[in-house]
Amino acid sequence: MRQTFRASWTLRLTLLGATALFAALVVGPSLNPVFEGVNGAGAAALPKIAVLIALALLVIVAGALRVQRTVDGLGDHGLTAWLRTPVAPLAPKPGTVESRSGAAATSSPAGQATQPDRRSFLQTAGAVGASTVAATAAGVGGTIAPQSQWVPVLGEIGAPVPTLSETARPEWKGARVKNYRRLGRTDAMVSDISLGSGRIRDQDGKRVAIEAIRRGVNYFDTAPDYSHESSERILGEAIQETGNREEMFLATKFCTADGHLPANASVAEIMTAVEGSLQRLQTDYVDLIHIHACDNVDRLMAPTTHEAFDRLREQGKARFLGFSSHTPSLPQVARAAIASDRFDVMMLAYHWGLWPEIGEVMDQAHDRDIGVVAMKTLKGAKATNLVGFENESKSFPQSAFRWVLDNPSVSCLVVSFSEDQHCDEYLYASGQSTRPSDIARLEKYDRLVSADYCRPHCGDCLGSCPEGRPIDTILRYDMYLADYGDAVRGREKYARLVAAGLDASSCASCPAPCLGSCPHELPIRAKMVRAHERLIEV
Ligand code: SF4
Ligand code: SF4
Repeated sequence: MRQTFRASWTLRLTLLGATALFAALVVGPSLNPVFEGVNGAGAAALPKIAVLIALALLVIVAGALRVQRTVDGLGDHGLTAWLRTPVAPLAPKPGTVESRSGAAATSSPAGQATQPDRRSFLQTAGAVGASTVAATAAGVGGTIAPQSQWVPVLGEIGAPVPTLSETARPEWKGARVKNYRRLGRTDAMVSDISLGSGRIRDQDGKRVAIEAIRRGVNYFDTAPDYSHESSERILGEAIQETGNREEMFLATKFCTADGHLPANASVAEIMTAVEGSLQRLQTDYVDLIHIHACDNVDRLMAPTTHEAFDRLREQGKARFLGFSSHTPSLPQVARAAIASDRFDVMMLAYHWGLWPEIGEVMDQAHDRDIGVVAMKTLKGAKATNLVGFENESKSFPQSAFRWVLDNPSVSCLVVSFSEDQHCDEYLYASGQSTRPSDIARLEKYDRLVSADYCRPHCGDCLGSCPEGRPIDTILRYDMYLADYGDAVRGREKYARLVAAGLDASSCASCPAPCLGSCPHELPIRAKMVRAHERLIEV
């Protein structure tokens, strides 16, 4: 007897599952570097995409295929029987009983005889359609579902680049400092919004600094390695021109134009570096010296640094000791500083949605009367570069500042002033409290930057790079360039990593075991490659 068969459900579902698995485990991950823009990734992914298409076609063909076989009186059996399912008896051998009885159907008048063919055609067409839909869903769904971090990226492809930004509001004009807070045991009353000078390096910067002083800013934060000593020099000139040295609270760092002093720097070397700061700042003393960007307790408690500070204080050249920190080890460093009782001030990275334990650390510092200065308050400062955030971009810093200043343990925040309008935009938030609209704005910002912002407190990826690249540090330098608009600072700092052989030059050709180590699903390799291209001096 001749019988028609189609592919069994077992076979069709097996093929469908294989297609989905291949898409999820092989094609999806290979498309990741394509979206990240890695050179040659598209060509490498093509053979895998071709195999996926072949599998999908196989699913469709399996749905459409009809074959005829001769079966004996025992029906369909044998090793391959699970592959097929009988459709309907058809085309019995001529001369058989089945042939004679079936002849009635096939020898009926024209019109009736076509019914089985039409039904068969419709069944086949339906199977092809359903198989096509299932194969497409398995391929596309299997590829995209495990790579959900693409979704926001895909949404931005082709989106217009913002050209307009919210304009400053008239009421911001001429804003002044409205609140001064006590800086812990220093007993100084400092402006709640204070001047960071990482981008002050020329006469434009001096004009901004002088205007900030006139608007009531009395705390300046600088360092020798900000703009290769230019920040200290320009601030020194600005303070001289306003004649306000005694009203200012001046903070600088233990370092040189080339960065941190080596861990084994002698007391004399450290003191010489501070003398250089005093000369550039045109002053006999600084109010505060920080141990700069401190990322471990050994550097925090280095005996030569503490001896140098004690001597400088005895000589009247430095009044208070502090440290700054914004690395994943911040809580550990801060707790050690509090326990040592050596520090008068701590400058910490602080913005909404940061270390869960940082609030507790700040409260402990406050209880011990240690002044707390908040920095990195703009959470990556990406507001002006965000598609869909144009209407909030200029109000965003005020929302961020109000949130920070709501914490009574914060003495003041430091933000980088570099343009004339910063005095209006930033100082308008002085003395204000958080409003409901601020929270909505901060949450919207969070949603927009989530797939791109490297959290300073995180560091979860650091053990994943076999070459020991400081991923978070490199991405921070890139943030200085791309988001803070401070290419000079980013490139200066990156040049030190290049000299130490710790830059991101090898990322483009690396198989990137770091991918997948970021709990926030940042495309690390793509960000490292882009950072290297932007930060490397040409
Ligand atoms: S891509 Fe770069 S950061 Fe990632 S593992 Fe390779 S070298 Fe390290
Ligand atoms: S790249 Fe991701 S895992 Fe690495 S420090 Fe940044 S946020 Fe954390």
